[in-house]
Amino acid sequence: MVEAHKLDCESVSDTCRFIVQSEDEDEAVELAKNHMAEIHGQELTSEELRDKHLQIV
Ligand SMILES: [Zn+2]
Repeated sequence: MVEAHKLDCESVSDTCRFIVQSEDEDEAVELAKNHMAEIHGQELTSEELRDKHLQIV
């Protein structure tokens, strides 16, 4: 089984159902960071995303 890194935006927002999922953690963080900045206007650091938002599935 390969682990994937996942950001489920539903945990942050009631209205957004965006999901990032990648086997590459760096890629998942990058995509999540872009999404949070563009859609939610939140500038999160990679550390914040890894700590608070990314799940391993
Ligand atoms: Zn979102």
